[in-house]
Amino acid sequence: MGLVNTDAIVLRTYNLAEADRIVLCLTRNAGLVRAVAKGARRMKSRFGAALEPFTFIKLDFYEKENRELVTISQAEILKSNFELAAHPDSTDALAYIAELVSEFAPPHEANDKLYRMVKACIDALASLADRPNLVVRYFEVWLLRLAGLFPDLSACTRCNNRFVDAELVYVDSEARPRCRACSHDTDSVLSIEIRRCLTATQKLAPLEFADSSAQLSAEAQTELAEFTHRLLVRALERRPRTVVGATSR
Ligand SMILES: [Zn+2]
Repeated sequence: MGLVNTDAIVLRTYNLAEADRIVLCLTRNAGLVRAVAKGARRMKSRFGAALEPFTFIKLDFYEKENRELVTISQAEILKSNFELAAHPDSTDALAYIAELVSEFAPPHEANDKLYRMVKACIDALASLADRPNLVVRYFEVWLLRLAGLFPDLSACTRCNNRFVDAELVYVDSEARPRCRACSHDTDSVLSIEIRRCLTATQKLAPLEFADSSAQLSAEAQTELAEFTHRLLVRALERRPRTVVGATSR
């Protein structure tokens, strides 16, 4: 308990009382944190633009025992993502990322891999603001993978035989991969193209992934989006509230 100093990403803000703001942050050292910024809505707030959504900040806050809400003492901008946040094509993608991170990240539990992944995706969006979809797919895959909810696509769930590269893979209603011999009539086929694409997320950074998958056809992008969406709906037990297009470009 006491003062915590950490890098953080502002995800969302809400107004509180007359002059204050509640800020939802993904922090590197303390995980998901809900923080009060006193006086943040005054004209001459000491926080300036540091608490705008998707700003990367250095954050100091006070924790109190048994209180979920912490109090911000200082916030300093490391990188303002103001232009990205204001870009019409990336607004939905960012809101979607904020929604899913706030659902998946347990409060007050540091997860360095998650922090770095989310930060890398926002950085990648800053370069690809007009075509955010593949970065969003990468984000979904990794969010699920870090939560232990992404299927291992290297082998059949039933017979454990490893798939060869050109082999057709079937997925059952629970999104478990199966070989042809173990598949049922109701299973859907995961195209080779999409399986390669999903495997590539393991080795590539989000920007590299978006570049290497830029040639995917509109149909393939839709298939990819449907696959990740299915896994997310299963994990959340509902549809995400924020809607992002599968192939807006
Ligand atoms: Zn099998």
